[in-house]
Amino acid sequence: MSSATSHAETQQAPSRSLWWDGLERNSTSPPLETDTSADIAIVGGGYTGLWTAYFLKHIQPGLDVVLVEAKHIGHGASGRNGGWLMGALEGCDAFTDDSGTLPIAAREQLTRLVARAGETLAKENIDCDFHHGGCVMAAARHDAQIGRAKKTLEGFHRLGFREDDYRWLTPSELSERIQVANPGGAVFTPHVARIQPAKLVTGLARVVKSQGVRVFEHTRAHTIQSGVIQCDRGTIRAGQIVIATEGYSEAGNPLHRRLIPVQTGMVATEPLSDAQWSSLGFADRETFADCTRAATYLQRTADHRLVIGARGHYLPGGKPQHALGDLETIGRHREQIALSLFPQLTGVRFTHNWGGSVGVPRQWHPHIRQNRESGIATAGGYVGEGVGASFLFGQTLADLLTEQDTERTQMPWVQRRSIEELKRWEPEPFPRLGLKATMMAFAAEEWFLDRYPGALPTRLMGWACDQLETH
Ligand SMILES: Cc1cc2nc3c(=O)[nH]c(=O)nc-3n(C[C@H](O)[C@H](O)[C@H](O)COP(=O)(O)OP(=O)(O)OC[C@H]3O[C@@H](n4cnc5c(N)ncnc54)[C@H](O)[C@@H]3O)c2cc1C
Repeated sequence: MSSATSHAETQQAPSRSLWWDGLERNSTSPPLETDTSADIAIVGGGYTGLWTAYFLKHIQPGLDVVLVEAKHIGHGASGRNGGWLMGALEGCDAFTDDSGTLPIAAREQLTRLVARAGETLAKENIDCDFHHGGCVMAAARHDAQIGRAKKTLEGFHRLGFREDDYRWLTPSELSERIQVANPGGAVFTPHVARIQPAKLVTGLARVVKSQGVRVFEHTRAHTIQSGVIQCDRGTIRAGQIVIATEGYSEAGNPLHRRLIPVQTGMVATEPLSDAQWSSLGFADRETFADCTRAATYLQRTADHRLVIGARGHYLPGGKPQHALGDLETIGRHREQIALSLFPQLTGVRFTHNWGGSVGVPRQWHPHIRQNRESGIATAGGYVGEGVGASFLFGQTLADLLTEQDTERTQMPWVQRRSIEELKRWEPEPFPRLGLKATMMAFAAEEWFLDRYPGALPTRLMGWACDQLETH
């Protein structure tokens, strides 16, 4: 089958999420129909809200915790993502100390994160295809990516991470793991695990409900104020409130316009045969990225498919993406990236194409905020790297809300300040125009790299993209 035929396959099935295919929704909960009160109320049924609830009950089993979700558990990014559970945060440069490195305690929080999450999942019998195989970030399409990969490695070492946290793979070491068409070398880190996102979010919901957390689905919080949440058909009075709505924070929510939703999405192949996998590699179920500016991320799933995510876009008016369906052109673009990385995939059918929203704060790095006076706390702003971070941030929120003084509550991403002090984004259409221009510049750079590598216009384009990336 030609690649043109495989594109047609994606058009026939453009909007199916692989993760929910055939998954039993064991966690359906009724909507809130009356007024109620609780010690702590959580808004948002994704990983952040659920991990916060989990650790709250772990620390103080007697706490009365209520969680409301506007749609169903895992409706947001937590049920749609690429399944990289990372011991890393976007924008770590913002958390360095005077020496320019990330404090050692912060590094340890991140480097221990994946193993700790794995232990918790095992302890709670949450089967989400967790596999701790690390991650390969490769120069795999253009020679310019070699420089970018080396810069990435230097950046991690400058932050204070060690050689066994992030190390260089030569082209032949890369090829031993993953057979890309044009191996130029790679950064390897052990601090990433693969998971199945919807299995994680539904498994976690099952556990928090068994701990006694009262979960209400199809219950939208319309207004959130100190001590009071107004929902569709009932009011919740709570001593403390956690807002965990990330890229799905809409009008009426204090996070609206403090986090904007940027869409990203995925395609999945049909299950591949053992012979196909031996031509591709991924023997240790490593996650894989190519060092492009527009984020390309892949995983080998437990049911033997390759799932590929790439490139963002922005909906008019800064709206989150509720429907699963992604733009077909963008789905096709992901297929093309997959085929250029792995010509071995020619003829393979792409069976699923879906997308969702990640939350992007104006300062481009995540935060945990707690304001004791208003009793409102939040965690998020993960910029598309929240699968692992939400485990750490949920636990940290639970420490803060139960007034535990822990190493986690001392981390540089914890601020005892109000949500209102988070910087707002500029009014529309400026964020949309800015993101569009950036994505167009990145695409143009790739076009030049494909055709005129090393030529002056390509280098100028690279310089312009460097400026966009750093501003
Ligand atoms: C396609 C895609 C791929 C990604 N890949 C990765 C990856 O591989 N690795 C990684 O680390 N990160 C990835 N991410 C990002 C990651 O999924 C998120 O950072 C993480 O899931 C955020 O979890 P959350 O609980 O904070 O937010 P969400 O999961 O978005 O949950 C927010 C919830 O709040 C609910 N809500 C909103 N408003 C209200 C209201 N008023 N009342 C009640 N409920 C409300 C929403 O319905 C939603 O369910 C990806 C994201 C996408 C979209």
